[in-house]
Amino acid sequence: MNTLLQKNWPWLVAAGLIVLWLLSTAVKFEPPVTDTRPIGGEEDILKLAERDDVNVLFVLVDTLRADRLGTYGYARDTSPAIDRFFSTGVRFDRHLSQSSWTKSSMASLWTSLYPTRTGVTRYEHVVADEAVMPAERLREAGFRTVGIYRNGWIAPTFGFNQGFDVYTRAPRRKMNPSVRAKNPTISDTGTDEDTVAAGIEFLRVSGHDGRFFLYMHLMDVHEYLYDEESAIFGGTQSDMYDSSIRWTDGTLDVLFAALDEFGLAENTIVVVTADHGEAFRERGIEGHARAVYRETTEVPFLLSFPFRLEPGLVIPTRTEGVDVWPTIFDLLGLDLPDESDGTSRLPEILAAASGEPIPDSETNAFAMLDETWGRPPTMESRLRVAVTDGNWRYLRSPGRGKNGEAMEELFDGENDPAELRNLAEEEPERVERLRAIADANLEARPSWGEAPKREIGELELNQLRALGYAIP
Ligand SMILES: [Zn+2]
Repeated sequence: MNTLLQKNWPWLVAAGLIVLWLLSTAVKFEPPVTDTRPIGGEEDILKLAERDDVNVLFVLVDTLRADRLGTYGYARDTSPAIDRFFSTGVRFDRHLSQSSWTKSSMASLWTSLYPTRTGVTRYEHVVADEAVMPAERLREAGFRTVGIYRNGWIAPTFGFNQGFDVYTRAPRRKMNPSVRAKNPTISDTGTDEDTVAAGIEFLRVSGHDGRFFLYMHLMDVHEYLYDEESAIFGGTQSDMYDSSIRWTDGTLDVLFAALDEFGLAENTIVVVTADHGEAFRERGIEGHARAVYRETTEVPFLLSFPFRLEPGLVIPTRTEGVDVWPTIFDLLGLDLPDESDGTSRLPEILAAASGEPIPDSETNAFAMLDETWGRPPTMESRLRVAVTDGNWRYLRSPGRGKNGEAMEELFDGENDPAELRNLAEEEPERVERLRAIADANLEARPSWGEAPKREIGELELNQLRALGYAIP
């Protein structure tokens, strides 16, 4: 605590946020005409671990499906800025989030542990102090750590502020009148423009004052929020979701431009990923936090380096949320977590950058959701699980069988990309093998015993309900 007080920058950030709030006008940057970053390759990636100037800018776009981004092959032009910015980085083509519910998925993303091993599976669960979060490790390594968020599930009261020097909601500015939103409560909680403006203010004031880890958790896609200019895809739920991605992409364009403007593009690793996707009645289910099919668990994982790689590098290997931080730690030359369900994907990145064949490190990936996450703690858990293996995906949903037993499904993603044709009865051996993997993962427990719990007050519950969550 002493050392924190001796440093002046957290107070500069606070001052910056206040100034921002007073001004309540957007800081606008024109996108750079040219990318100022040098050309780089495999050697430069390896050298990142020895550099003492590399920052991490981590953007989490809540509720963002991979297959709705241009760079992942979507036909609509939802994401021109993201597509452009990461075109000279690396795109992970098949990336699974560990859950379809923010809190559980984020706990796994930060700790590199599956939900059964974080113990964070229900609404009263808190990330344990014993869990080692990236902000803690980076602060120890000399980074200044700043998190800006709007989603109540990742509030400090749930343990998500561990290691952050500053962990705050962005001050809400006057909202752009052309912004529309499905959710009328948005006028109380602001928009991602607030979050990004606060992040930019941090970069401006303090971006060159030593190394930083800046985490921004964006929520406008979750809220289906967009402005008139982005409303170009029609009026269905799914169309509005696309418009919201387009709007968010514009917000990120401002952030990327600021990075360049402040001369930080040449020493910052940029990450864009998501906590889960969103369903649009592909199989009768809407929204997220209800099941773990492909539409709510296949998310983007995009990396950009302080230099430009050859355009269009793609890593086809199956990856998952628990791999993200082992990969970043490896890039930075930091030790991998002692306890981890994830794998560093640095070997795949190096292979892609040097034009070598990507190593055949196909692994299983695991996602789960406790369907009873929002129910009283006395109610017995009902766990939905998914295991992917290559193009195959096995799912088990409790109580959904004909006679109330668990329903098992098996999909062949290669020949059935929408994953609608259940092949479980035709492939009993494959089902048996993937079922065993699911069961083994379900048996894992936190090394610290169990997740701490806390009472959630009615006010906080109402704030969470306002996000659209059906908490009784
Ligand atoms: Zn979420």
